[in-house]
Amino acid sequence: MKTSFSTFETVFIEKGVKEHSKTASILGRIESDPEIVEVSSIGDIISSADPVYHPRERCKTLYLGSLKGEIVQACPGSMGHLCCNYSVINQVIGCPLDCSYCILQAYLNQPSVVINVDIENSLEAIREAAAATEGYLRIGTGELGDSLVYDHLTGFAGLIIDAVTKLPNCIFEFKTKTVSIDGILAKPASNNIVVGFSLNPEKTGMLEEGLAAPVSERIAAAGELVKAGYPVSFHFDPMVYSDDFEERYSSVINDLFDAVAPEHIAWISLGTFRYTRDLKLMMEYNYPDSKLLWQEFSRCHDGKFRYIYPVRKEMNMIMRRLITERSEHIPLYLCMESPRMWQDVMGTLPHKSEALELIFKRRAR
Ligand code: SF4
Repeated sequence: MKTSFSTFETVFIEKGVKEHSKTASILGRIESDPEIVEVSSIGDIISSADPVYHPRERCKTLYLGSLKGEIVQACPGSMGHLCCNYSVINQVIGCPLDCSYCILQAYLNQPSVVINVDIENSLEAIREAAAATEGYLRIGTGELGDSLVYDHLTGFAGLIIDAVTKLPNCIFEFKTKTVSIDGILAKPASNNIVVGFSLNPEKTGMLEEGLAAPVSERIAAAGELVKAGYPVSFHFDPMVYSDDFEERYSSVINDLFDAVAPEHIAWISLGTFRYTRDLKLMMEYNYPDSKLLWQEFSRCHDGKFRYIYPVRKEMNMIMRRLITERSEHIPLYLCMESPRMWQDVMGTLPHKSEALELIFKRRAR
């Protein structure tokens, strides 16, 4: 199903951003004729609206407001698992792409997508964080929603690129499962802007990543960005086990390297499917047809459930082999994995690997 992600039934506007120029431009790009309601804060709609459980329902409503509290945050990581020393800003919270495994189902309590219109404030926070960072600040959007899915409404990507290209010690990553790259292609390429695409075999994408762009189109978009001079990254996360795992993933890796030469790849991450108890309940409720939970899992130190260790290890080993057969020089890392898995699969811990020095600076908590 094709959708432009430009329609909402209701738009709530926080009083303080009513006159903000971004509020007007976002409203002007919405293709539906939503009811517009002014509120004092997001607390008003959280306390008065019925709870919303399905992401598709949440994405019928938009809240335009401004971020409160700390803007640049450390990626939460996972207890007992190695962290990749990443910072995030949450300019948009909520995502309409409808992935069955999306952790946001278990995290979010607001009944709407939230867009923080005060982008200038966030850009200033990035400048301050870069100035306060010794070495490199690696930062991105995409933690609480896809980085680009609403870019046609917000135009944030171009503004972020303009700001970050002036910060030589900052590397900014947009993470997406869309092909919404027009806002990026409109800007001259810069080495400190990386566009990351989450990949899975096409069949998994079709079954479990509802409204995301087909995997072949994501790879083609990565190829276009490379032609324009941008570095790209790829995230095989969450990898999904099947009896024909190697066949399925070697096919997508072949497609990837046919479209993008290794020297243009900033990094690749690997992460196996994992879930919390809350996410399992939400998946069963929201996506009863998903087959992701039909496997054997074990509970890990951080309370999350993962495929049993030998299965995860085999998946990671296969992926590492398939990628290093193409190039041994691409920084490759495991997302939210234990030191034992790092040692078994990568033969080292991230803080000892020179190629990853930039990415990993912090040991397991
Ligand atoms: S793209 Fe990411 S944030 Fe959006 S629904 Fe899928 S998993 Fe969730």
